Amino acid sequence: MNLPICIICLKSGILCKSCQSKLDSGEIEDIDIQISRLFLELEYKFPELRNSTFYKAMHADDTIILLVRSGSKIPKATWNKIASTIKNKLGKNVKIVEKTMSIRQLAEQILFPVKVKSVNTIWLPDGSCENHIKISKADISRLKFSKDVAEKILSRFIKENIRIIEE
Ligand SMILES: [Zn+2]
Repeated sequence: MNLPICIICLKSGILCKSCQSKLDSGEIEDIDIQISRLFLELEYKFPELRNSTFYKAMHADDTIILLVRSGSKIPKATWNKIASTIKNKLGKNVKIVEKTMSIRQLAEQILFPVKVKSVNTIWLPDGSCENHIKISKADISRLKFSKDVAEKILSRFIKENIRIIEE
């Protein structure tokens, strides 16, 4: 499996210069190392993970959200099994999200069961941009975690500024 930290570092527990600087800059965090180690073990049980990529893990209240990309077609049932294995090891809920190029598709996975009404890119006067994800006001109570947390995760996973707008 492609991981955000090298295998040698994972196995030895001592970080190389490159992994250490990723950790220092915040690109990877302790949780990413912990999850990478678990995925390495899980590869034996789930060989289909071998061509897949794990990008990033983030805490959302009592859930850990994992951003991955399946290398080959991995059935939803297999991902569910992997999620429950990690859940048992860490004692936290685990949600696995497939990385896509579409902001909308990624947002729909993270915000589920809340539906995304639209996604608009807004250009700000300073030349930067912000993506506004619109959801219905009536749905806000159905979000599994707070709007702030959802925005933080989406911004990090998509690497752009994301705002959730209720309307
Ligand atoms: Zn390394």
